[in-house]
Amino acid sequence: MSHVRPERRVGPALLLVLSLTATALAAQGALKPLKVVDRLWIDTTANACSDFFQYANGAWIAHDTIPAAYSSSGVARDMSDRNELVVRSVLDDAAAHRASQPAGSTPRKLGTFYASCMDSTAAEAAGIDPIRPWLAGIDSIATRDQLIPQIAALQVRGVNVAFRYGPEADPHDAAHYLVWLAQGGLGLPDRDYYTKTDPQSDSLRQQYVAHVAKMLTLAGEPAAQAGTDAAAVLAFETELARASLTRVERREPSATDHPTTAGELRTLAPTISWNGYFQAIGLTVPVARLNVAEPAFFKRVDSLVNTAPLDQWRAYLRYHLLDAAAPWLSTPLVNEDFAFSSRFSGAKELLPRWKRCLRETDGDLGEALGQAYVAKTFPPEARARAKAVIDDIRAAFAARLRRLTWMSDSTRAQALDKLGKMGEKVGYPDHWRDYTRLESVDGPFVVNVARANAFEWQRVVNRPGSPVDTTEWGITVPTVNAYYDPERNEMVFPAGALVPQTFDPKADDGANYGSLGGSWAGHELTHGFDDEGRHYDAKGNLRDWWTAADSAHFTTQADRMVQQFNGYVQVDTFHVNGRLTLGENIADYGGILTGYDALQRALVRDGRPKLIDGYTPEQRFFLGYAQSWRSQTRDAALRTRVTVDPHAPERWRVNGPLSDSPAFARAFGCKPGDPMVRPPDVVPQIW
Ligand SMILES: [Zn+2]
Repeated sequence: MSHVRPERRVGPALLLVLSLTATALAAQGALKPLKVVDRLWIDTTANACSDFFQYANGAWIAHDTIPAAYSSSGVARDMSDRNELVVRSVLDDAAAHRASQPAGSTPRKLGTFYASCMDSTAAEAAGIDPIRPWLAGIDSIATRDQLIPQIAALQVRGVNVAFRYGPEADPHDAAHYLVWLAQGGLGLPDRDYYTKTDPQSDSLRQQYVAHVAKMLTLAGEPAAQAGTDAAAVLAFETELARASLTRVERREPSATDHPTTAGELRTLAPTISWNGYFQAIGLTVPVARLNVAEPAFFKRVDSLVNTAPLDQWRAYLRYHLLDAAAPWLSTPLVNEDFAFSSRFSGAKELLPRWKRCLRETDGDLGEALGQAYVAKTFPPEARARAKAVIDDIRAAFAARLRRLTWMSDSTRAQALDKLGKMGEKVGYPDHWRDYTRLESVDGPFVVNVARANAFEWQRVVNRPGSPVDTTEWGITVPTVNAYYDPERNEMVFPAGALVPQTFDPKADDGANYGSLGGSWAGHELTHGFDDEGRHYDAKGNLRDWWTAADSAHFTTQADRMVQQFNGYVQVDTFHVNGRLTLGENIADYGGILTGYDALQRALVRDGRPKLIDGYTPEQRFFLGYAQSWRSQTRDAALRTRVTVDPHAPERWRVNGPLSDSPAFARAFGCKPGDPMVRPPDVVPQIW
């Protein structure tokens, strides 16, 4: 389901989990407790004014090795490691006691789901048997009329084929859901992998064809046929890719805003039986109007339905089903799936099974385990203290808006209105999801995953036309992440992210305001006013509330930031994509400026503490920010991220915005000409 619209704080490879019990477990000697600012990580031999990322994290980097099963290490992994121990205890408990829970109860479903995943013996014995009925459905396609029902059946089970359906907020009436049809259906991580013409991209496509052939062979195809089919899959996906918008193009909200009537959809894509499709996915509410995010893409899908050989279609659908199911089948499929995906992550070995099962369970039944997780880890005091920091951030941003000299009063009034109406969710949902209709029974785990996907599909499929559920969360409670959703105009911070190293109610203000204040709350808030978020109004509607002059100023200053980040090296010969990462870079910079102001307010209110480890509160603020990005990433993952991730590498997320900050230069006594001090005439003047 396309609940992927909010841009997250960290990249997809880092979407992990954590906890407060970090501290409790650490006390038992399981894992070292994390501190918001840890002086042991500082490289005191480095020059803070030359490379502050190195200064703040260099001593840690010098001694860290990325574990074989990971593409990176650092804050996100450290927090998730601690968190996963808590979630595991919840799941082990649920699995052990499932038989004594009432039939059909959520605890029983949760325990059964996790236990069926952990049953590796059953997975080995079954091979691909559990998905044979679905493969047979694909093989039975004999006429073009039979394509759409099969596509629909696969989508409902969570398989990404042809395009995406999702009820999302109406761009022009964000209080109500609307049918969105969007591009999708690719096997490689981005459309650019199909269109780039350099030797590495050519080689990667050849490896992809070999991988598809191997998967088809493992599903029983003769090798020669599998080779032919694999080439056909690449050719098919290349057609989809060429018709897809780039990630940079999709950053402009108007590029994916195409209100369409049902009649216009039939004209745009006349071969596809849309009524048949909507019926097949279980949509029963009438669809008079919808948003076709990328019309050219749907023209292409329609022509493929009309003209692509059915052999090609069947090979394409078969591979995507195998690709989705492979992680939960027998070892040959698991290993082939991992071997190919590791080209993008750089990971050297599989995660242990319990971690893979834990993550899948969190993804599919996250709100069933979230309650137990919160009870174990997140006391009301922590929630209250985190909310207080976020309140200070809001006040500091409002004060900045009031004194901005470049902004007209009319734009300013609307910006203040948007900020005032911005919602926030902190810790955990007030209403937990109802899993009554979810089926989870003993048997092949891959079937339970398909059931969970079908449950999620049915939960939302008939939303079009109804009011947006404002209580809903887009990520689960134990997740080490946060987001801003422009269509709901709200920030969301799950409990999993509100623990050390992000935040510690017992830590000093300097540390907490640099980390939680700057790199989390200030960052998410600023997303409401970045190159993408600024196009949405206080109600989440896509509406231009800017004067032409203010818009022009913003664009000129944002272009400075694009140039700044284009100048940074991502990995070997690849530079950061300043356009793709613009929103995140604006959010980082806004986060620092706002977090710093909020710290000054807190120091006035609470009093200025003595030096800690020899550092002033302001220096602790910048250390808290820089250490919140403590990480190392494998080159393979950095190469993937340059194409797919709107976040720049962590080194630049620190050194980029801090070298634009006069307060940073003051705090560490940096002088004009130092690498961490960029000339004022190139520094972006935005928020
Ligand atoms: Zn962000």
